Amino acid sequence: MLTSIVGINWGDEGKGRMVDLLSKDYDIVCRYQGGNNAGHTVINERGRFILNLLPSGILREGVVCVMGPGMVIDIKHLAGEMARLREAGIQITPDNLKISDRAVITMPYNVQQDCLEEARLADKKFGSTKRGIAPVYADKYLKKAFRMGELLHFDRLKRRLPDIVDWKNLTVVNAYGAEAVQTQDMLAYFEEYGLPLCAYICDVGLYLDRAHKEGKKILLEAQLGALRDLDYGIYPYTSSSNNIAAYGPIGAGVPNLKLDKTIGIMKAYSSCVGEGPFTAEYFGEKAEKLRAAGGEYGAATGRPRRVGPFDVVASKYGIRCQGADEIALTKLDILSGHDRLEVCTAYELDGKKLTEFPFPDVLDDCKPVFETLPGWNCDISKCRKKEELPQEALAYIRFIEQACECKIRYVSVGAERDAYIEL
Ligand code: GDP
Repeated sequence: MLTSIVGINWGDEGKGRMVDLLSKDYDIVCRYQGGNNAGHTVINERGRFILNLLPSGILREGVVCVMGPGMVIDIKHLAGEMARLREAGIQITPDNLKISDRAVITMPYNVQQDCLEEARLADKKFGSTKRGIAPVYADKYLKKAFRMGELLHFDRLKRRLPDIVDWKNLTVVNAYGAEAVQTQDMLAYFEEYGLPLCAYICDVGLYLDRAHKEGKKILLEAQLGALRDLDYGIYPYTSSSNNIAAYGPIGAGVPNLKLDKTIGIMKAYSSCVGEGPFTAEYFGEKAEKLRAAGGEYGAATGRPRRVGPFDVVASKYGIRCQGADEIALTKLDILSGHDRLEVCTAYELDGKKLTEFPFPDVLDDCKPVFETLPGWNCDISKCRKKEELPQEALAYIRFIEQACECKIRYVSVGAERDAYIEL
């Protein structure tokens, strides 16, 4: 069985905690795209963990984690993440972590390029997380990147390295006027952070395909959400990879397999990190209150997130892009304590009401249309059954279900593993 867990919105929906929860029913958890530019926060009985690269399944004993060919891996960052988890008593061995030989290595000069470009853009900046993600994906498509499998053929890699460094310096030195990248430094980087990973590197597609044939259950874990997908999101304010579920089997190394189920993670309100259009955005005191209640500060960067009410137009589009079969609605507890709750049900553009998500370029001119629903004033974080929820919370869930034409199966009411309700 092959299931994917994906984000319906702009990311930070709480995918990590849902993977952590649902991985109990799976044998394998695989990340299939992106790098260390976003972070999943998982809180369970073993502690509080921020995972940027490792699949969230790493926190469950008996689950095998796979980093797929669609990923870009900053090997220094990975070394740090593995060390932190090991300090917390989490076992990581080649038996429970497999890294694709086809995954691409994010190089220090990719991070440098990211910083140089953001500095050049100055006040026109994109809000990059400066983790080198766009430059390394660009290198991949230019066919100038290094892949994890090359570490297993180190003499060959060493022979290729000087040419790539010369090529990269055409940009770093000639275009940006920065200091030249040194071949020796890059070699030392591979030796220090790459070679210790050799035991984990393999053909993960072969591993997953065999496991699938043996009847093992595989969970694909996405980073970010539909609105950050390179092709379907709010380009150019997207990530540099495809996070949509349809890409999952490709990015995981099993293009031959079809998904059996897609679970979309959708937040009970909206949040968005960085620049770009965000139609239903709240400002001022309203925003402050929601941000503080939801703890909306980036897991990877600590940046305050932009926030707003639930957006039906964007979420319905996200559900369609993801082909989500069922939805987990997260962080409903954050909305407690309001007499009334706003929901953005349409956008207004040039005097017309839009109910379908438009071509992103026109979003700047769209104004949100809000409807108001009754709120609830009690704490719902201890609710574990549908019947324990106040009528207003149930009505809010039902309203979203109908407006987004989706089936909400799970509702989460707290960050802890068991703080959820299955409807
Ligand atoms: P991800 O990248 O999609 O995994 O999302 P993040 O980890 O960036 O953001 C989700 C944040 O919300 C984390 O800090 C979670 O611990 C927290 N969280 C997840 N679900 C809930 C919930 O139902 N209620 C509350 N209060 N917090 C939650």
